[in-house]
Amino acid sequence: MLSADFLNLQKDIEMVNNSEADWFHLDIMDGVFVPNISFGFPVLEAMKGMCKKPMDVHLMIVEPQKFIKEVADCGAYMMNVHYEACMHLHRTVSAIKEAGMKAGVTLNPHTPVCLLEDIIQDLDMVLLMSVNPGYGGQKFIEHAVDKTRCLKEMIRRKGLETLIEIDGGVNLQTAPELLDAGADILVAGSFVFKSPDPLRTIHELKAL
Ligand code: ZN
Repeated sequence: MLSADFLNLQKDIEMVNNSEADWFHLDIMDGVFVPNISFGFPVLEAMKGMCKKPMDVHLMIVEPQKFIKEVADCGAYMMNVHYEACMHLHRTVSAIKEAGMKAGVTLNPHTPVCLLEDIIQDLDMVLLMSVNPGYGGQKFIEHAVDKTRCLKEMIRRKGLETLIEIDGGVNLQTAPELLDAGADILVAGSFVFKSPDPLRTIHELKAL
């Protein structure tokens, strides 16, 4: 929803409700962990009753463990925290689950997937950033495809069912190679919202 019209959020939420999209992906930025500020919990809270699909909340903030209750109270289905922002990741992941949410861990483009070896069994999802977090509409970092393949291999080797989500630069060109590499969920922001017919664009992505 980072690329939605913030002065007409209800209209864009309805569009997603009526589309073939499976989830709402919500990027919260603090201007510290990433060089931008998006929106915070009052906006998320306001969206709670309107979103008819699961809310996938991606916290691009320092110390995300301080806000687990706030995110849960906003009705989030999935809470993603950055590996780079968590000193005690296992504790944070456990607390997210105790609050009744699915737990996701996000990796920045430079963070290798091998760092998840000892936590992956506790995760419901891994979110790989395929751009540097902070802004919508950035160019896809091609290396994300190799990372997806590597992560999928780790998940298979351990016999897990952890989902792989990709965020950044997803479009009709990059999506097929990501799906082929093992991605389960693709986040599309500006590619959908800036397209002439967002419902059709979502349909085209879903048909891949
Ligand atoms: Zn995101």
